[in-house]
Amino acid sequence: MNEDDLLVRGATIVTLDDARRVVKGDLRVRGDRLVHVGPGGSRRPAKRVIDAKGCVVMPGFVQAHVHLCQALFRGMADDLPLLPWLAERIWPLEGAHDARSLRASARLGLAEMLLAGTTTILDMGTVQHHDAVFEAIAESGMRAYSGKAMMDVGEKVPRSLRESTKRSLEESHRLRERWHGAEGGRLRYAYAPRFILSCSERLMREVAEAVAGSDTLAHSHAAEHAAERAAVKAMLGRDDVAALEAFGLAGPRTVLAHGVQLKPAEMKRVARLGTRFVHCPSANLKLASGIADVRAMRDHGVVVGLGADGAPCNNRMDPWTELRSAALLAKVRRDDAAALPAQEALELATREGARALGLDAEIGTLEVGKKADFIVVRDDGLHQEPGGDVYGRLVYATTAADVRDVIVDGRCVVESGALRTLDAAKVRSDARREGAKVATRAGLAR
Ligand SMILES: [Zn+2]
Repeated sequence: MNEDDLLVRGATIVTLDDARRVVKGDLRVRGDRLVHVGPGGSRRPAKRVIDAKGCVVMPGFVQAHVHLCQALFRGMADDLPLLPWLAERIWPLEGAHDARSLRASARLGLAEMLLAGTTTILDMGTVQHHDAVFEAIAESGMRAYSGKAMMDVGEKVPRSLRESTKRSLEESHRLRERWHGAEGGRLRYAYAPRFILSCSERLMREVAEAVAGSDTLAHSHAAEHAAERAAVKAMLGRDDVAALEAFGLAGPRTVLAHGVQLKPAEMKRVARLGTRFVHCPSANLKLASGIADVRAMRDHGVVVGLGADGAPCNNRMDPWTELRSAALLAKVRRDDAAALPAQEALELATREGARALGLDAEIGTLEVGKKADFIVVRDDGLHQEPGGDVYGRLVYATTAADVRDVIVDGRCVVESGALRTLDAAKVRSDARREGAKVATRAGLAR
């Protein structure tokens, strides 16, 4: 029999499988798949061995809503509410990207997220040059759904981002043709009509048609901020989620970021249709959008994932921050310390995120036959001692700095805290140079 490619031995394995098994033992990987999870896996040799004694091994984080194209804009748009944040800073900056700055931005975001233990993302790009984002994802080793932003209407949308409906659709279809299924299926395409205020009805109907019956996704924003909702209602005479549904953007292949403003009747409707929502707690706080009622969404049966959103509205792309914030905010939102217990919060960040993206047969838990996407996390920091429940330790005490090794698709992309696929020093110097240039081109240099 062929020797396995990787053995991770002696860990506390938090599987998050249906039985929620937590076991002491070993993982074995052959190719891109897990072939052993549990005790007694360390007797046979393997090509490569990682000693994980004193560590937790858990599924890699799924961040179901991020913007790699905005990583360069970290710190360039602080302390503004959503609509001015978009119109005065983010859109001019996105419109000023060239392929070089976009590549630097994507690499920065990917490096940060991989080092913190994110193994899968759903990414929304800017309008132009999106091949550069896919190229960066391909080289980084991250698993991703990604797609260019689509914007064909909107009064404050700058000329640099506005495109015709036809061109927006053609470019999206071209990118899908080139990248969907690339890297052995690690890369996938998600159509990204940005939000209802920047997309025509025809654009959204055609996206719904393109996604139907395929394994691509539709990825948009909805029910984020009260002012945004009011603008949609004034324009269309109904709320954004109802309008999206009328245009065909609903159901399990539609993933909508935020849901802060969802009312209970809408949650029921969304749950019945199977539309996915992504909770972005830090971004909702920083843009003063509010606190999504994740408990109510879950109780109504809505599938909810977690995401950091973009660097300029967070300013971290750290899954641990989102995990902890989601758990803590739910308690305040509901005046109930048990509103989102640690284990359930961790599920949102892993298996439920995978479900939100329709990838739950492949990732999100540690089980034999699934993809080898997992992280080795140190569990002996003073900030984690002396003990307690493993879920509580992970959610409330552990930080991104405790992530030691990251494996995606069977490949070790972070080893002993160092990125193996991208050069971190170059990522930093490119980000500084290109960040300054893009701010100058946008007329926002300080
Ligand atoms: Zn977003």
